[in-house]
Amino acid sequence: MTMKHHDNVPSAAPLYHTAGRTDRAGTADPLEELCRQLLLEIGEDPDREGLQETPARFARWWREFTQYDAGKVDSLFELKTHGQVVVVSDIEVWSLCEHHLLPFSSSVTIAYRPGNAVLGLSKFARIAQRHAHRLQVQERLVGDIAEEISAVTASPDVAVIAHGEHLCMSMRGIRTPATMTSSVFHGIFEEYGPPREELVAMVLRGSAGR
Ligand code: ZN
Repeated sequence: MTMKHHDNVPSAAPLYHTAGRTDRAGTADPLEELCRQLLLEIGEDPDREGLQETPARFARWWREFTQYDAGKVDSLFELKTHGQVVVVSDIEVWSLCEHHLLPFSSSVTIAYRPGNAVLGLSKFARIAQRHAHRLQVQERLVGDIAEEISAVTASPDVAVIAHGEHLCMSMRGIRTPATMTSSVFHGIFEEYGPPREELVAMVLRGSAGR
């Protein structure tokens, strides 16, 4: 077998040797055995051609997803103007529904009113990705993102809106593709009024083409 490098190498150091074989140095990832059991339970033969490397891939993907490293998220820049609302929209994230372990993809919009420092633009995506790379529900995802944005910017005025397609709805159960929207509004966005209406109108315009 030829090994292709760079393909499935997780960014974070794996906790286990994910070589797929226990006869090699190191300990096999327990997730590999779990995957073999899963394959047997659904009537598959884990040793048939096509499935032989599946347990190792399965283990790598779970480690890679859950050990995601978002990097530095707290770079702030000094701001001269005050009272402006900053909106970062269409941050695309993939997460896993904690009820079914099935993926959902969400388009996230984050709005906040900075005090005297603004957060670097790339940090919004990092924060969103960080909270998506775990078992989640979309309602908590928007809450977790809002909480962290508030904490790093020291701004109480934060809103997060996410539209997501959930495979546990599209693929199983009612099998209807549906976009689900979840939102949290804090500070100036909490009360119904111009800041919130403008934001919601903006997000609705943006999601019309989805
Ligand atoms: Zn689900």
